Amino acid sequence: MKTYGFTTSILHSDRQKPIEHGSLHKPIHNSVTFAYEDARELATVFQGKQAGYRYGRQGNPTVSALEDKVTRMEAGHASICFATGMAAIGALCQALLRQGDHVVSSSFLFGNTNSLWQTVSGLGIDVSFVDATDVNQVAAALTPATRMVFVETIANPRTQIADLERIGQLCQERGILYVVDNTMTSPYLFQPKSVGASLIVNALTKSIGGHGNALGGSLTDTGLYDWSQFPGIIDTYKRNSPAQWGMTQVRAKALRDFGASLSAEAAHHLAIGSETLALRMERTCANALAVAQMLQADERVAAVHYPGLSSHPQHERATSLFRAYGSLFSFELKEGIDCFDYLNRLKLGISASNLGDNRTLVIPVAHTIFYEMGAQRRASMGIAESLIRVSIGIEDTVDLVEDFRRALDC
Ligand SMILES: *Cc1c(COP(=O)(O)O)cnc(C)c1O
Repeated sequence: MKTYGFTTSILHSDRQKPIEHGSLHKPIHNSVTFAYEDARELATVFQGKQAGYRYGRQGNPTVSALEDKVTRMEAGHASICFATGMAAIGALCQALLRQGDHVVSSSFLFGNTNSLWQTVSGLGIDVSFVDATDVNQVAAALTPATRMVFVETIANPRTQIADLERIGQLCQERGILYVVDNTMTSPYLFQPKSVGASLIVNALTKSIGGHGNALGGSLTDTGLYDWSQFPGIIDTYKRNSPAQWGMTQVRAKALRDFGASLSAEAAHHLAIGSETLALRMERTCANALAVAQMLQADERVAAVHYPGLSSHPQHERATSLFRAYGSLFSFELKEGIDCFDYLNRLKLGISASNLGDNRTLVIPVAHTIFYEMGAQRRASMGIAESLIRVSIGIEDTVDLVEDFRRALDC
C-alpha cells in the first residue's frame, strides 16, 4: 500500500473508512448512546468481543476519527483522546499506576504536570525528579518499583531537551514504560516512536488544534512496548493480543471510570486544526528562530533559550532529532527592564497563557504559571524571576521581529 506524506495522510484519513453521506468532514455525532437492532449484538459490544460504540463516555465516532488522525501522525498502533492534555497525563496514573509504584520524571516539566506528580505522590505513588537531559541521572533513579519514565521533548518554558534516544534504550533494556510528552514538538517535528517511546502524550489543545478554540489531549500506544511484561494489567483486560492490553485498560480504567472524555464538538475543531499542522509549524518555527536571533543579538537581553540557537546546550541533539526547533522560546531581560512593562509595550504579543496558538502569546512565567511552586523550586528548574515565555504564532515575520525589538526601547 502506498504510504502518503504527513499532511496528505491526515487530510484523507476520514475517507479510509465509510463516511456518512459522502460528507468530507467526519460528522459531529452528539449522541450520548448508540443503539443496536439485536440486543445480543449490544452484549457482544459490551463484552469487547465486537468493535462498536455503546455509551459516549468510552467512545464516539467523531472522536474515533480524530484518534485515527493522531495515530497516523505518530505512526502509532492506537490512540485514545481525552477532554484535555492533563486528562491524558492523568489517565496514565489512573489506569497504569498503583500505590507503591515508582515514576521517574524529568524535573523540567510543564507546570501542571509537575503539580499532578505532587498530587499523586500524596496517593502513594513515589515520583523522582531528575535532570533528564542526562541519561545517567535517569538510570541512577531507577528502582525495582519503577514502572514509568516520563519526559517532555522540549521542556516548557526553558527548552531543555531530554536525552530522548538514550532514555529510550535504557527503558527498553529494563522493560519500563517510556512516556514522552510530544506537545512542544508536535508529531510534525518529531515522532517519539523513533526513540523507542512506549506511549506518547499530545496536548491537542496546543499546536495540533492550533486555533485556541478547543481543549483536548491524547495518548498514543506506539506498539513498541510488550504489555505482557507490565505488572499492572488487570486479568480482565488480558484478552486478545498483549499489544491491545495497555490501551484496553486505559480506555476502561481512565476514560470509563474517571470520565474525562473529549466531546464530539471539540474533536471536530481539533480535527480541522490538525489538517494544517505541518503548514503552521513551518511558519511558527521560522518566526521563532527569527525573533530569538534578533533578541540574542540585542545587548538589552540577558539570555535567550531556544533550541535553534547554536548557544543552546542541546542544539545538536535538537538538530539531529527534530525537523525544526519549535514555536516556543523564553528569554530574560537585563536588569533595569521590567518584564511587565516590556510585555505591555508589545502590540502583537498577547499576554495570555496558552501556547501553540496561531497568535503570538507571551507570559511572565515566574509570576503566573510557575507562581504556585515557589521561588526555591523555580530556581532549581532554572526559571529566572524575569523569564518571559513566548509562543510564536503565524503572523508575518517582519511584524513580529519589529514588535519584539521596539518593545526593548524604554
Ligand atoms: C498544555 C500542555 C499540557 C496540558 O494540556 P491541556 O490541554 O492544557 O490540559 C501538557 N503538556 C504540555 C507540554 C503542555 O504544553
